[in-house]
Amino acid sequence: MEERNYPLYLYAAERMLPRMAEQDPKYIEVENEITTTRIGYEGETRSDQMIRRACLPRHSRVLHDLTIRVFGEDPVQIDTLVITKHFAFIIEVKNISGTLELERHPALLKRTAKDGKVSYFQSPFVQLNMAIDTVAYWLLAQNIEIPVKGAVFLASKYAEPHFEPGMPIHFIREIPDLFRNELKNHPPAIDEAAVEWIASALRYQEEPYDHFPLVQHFNHTQDNLHTEPLCTECLGRLETHTKRMGTCMKCELRQWIPYTETLVDYFLIYCKKASLTECSNFINLGRSKTAELLKSPLFLRHGKTNNTVFELNRPNIRISREGKLIVPGDEKVK
Ligand SMILES: [Zn+2]
Repeated sequence: MEERNYPLYLYAAERMLPRMAEQDPKYIEVENEITTTRIGYEGETRSDQMIRRACLPRHSRVLHDLTIRVFGEDPVQIDTLVITKHFAFIIEVKNISGTLELERHPALLKRTAKDGKVSYFQSPFVQLNMAIDTVAYWLLAQNIEIPVKGAVFLASKYAEPHFEPGMPIHFIREIPDLFRNELKNHPPAIDEAAVEWIASALRYQEEPYDHFPLVQHFNHTQDNLHTEPLCTECLGRLETHTKRMGTCMKCELRQWIPYTETLVDYFLIYCKKASLTECSNFINLGRSKTAELLKSPLFLRHGKTNNTVFELNRPNIRISREGKLIVPGDEKVK
């Protein structure tokens, strides 16, 4: 099973927010995105635990956050795809509490919260059926015949679904049981090598939708964003006294200036590519020290000595479960 990564989009948005003024017209939008993405991520993490408990047959593969493209169609996002010798199974997790009902024409999910507040969400079944069709079509195009199934799973204990009987919706704690039944009902249809082939071919065809830089994604003007380094503890902005040390304006922690994190922010939030001069200006550090930092495996360089351009080396960017950048080696500039 692939380890689910802390979403880079969530990490970047969490670091964009402290750089915005509360009166910023986009502040609420970014804040809402953070809440929704975090709730979704938590639900998916809980469903991962249940999949582990399901004791799937060896050689099964679990793919997360997959984008599938079928010629001539819009790409389809899939939270979790389980591939076994018996079937492929799509898991669509919804972390929504309250009373849940389906509305038709147009298909929407209606949620009534405890306090009576009503909100509407996209129907998870529309999303699920599209995902099932896309995976089935993709497999058919590769001449692979296995059943493609799927269901919506509710992550919140406080969800009260009121759906017509027979709808493919369950609580995530039902995942182990459900898989046990599906495995019993479907004899193996392909071999281990085919499972492996499907998993890598699906990863290979991906070109995930790119959210970065966030100013573009949120259509933000960026000139009123704060550029200071952020506190390693609380994400408050740092007041810098020297080129080495700073003090958090929120929690007052004195700390080494987290230059690498700030450079990564630059590429995630402000611009995809930048010259050495632009990077050095952004982090307010001399060119040679900045060039030293840019040698980290987190960055890529292109072009000849005189017009080198830098960008993030995305496959090397890893975020810990606590939402912190994992900096390879020693990040302190001494
Ligand atoms: Zn702080």
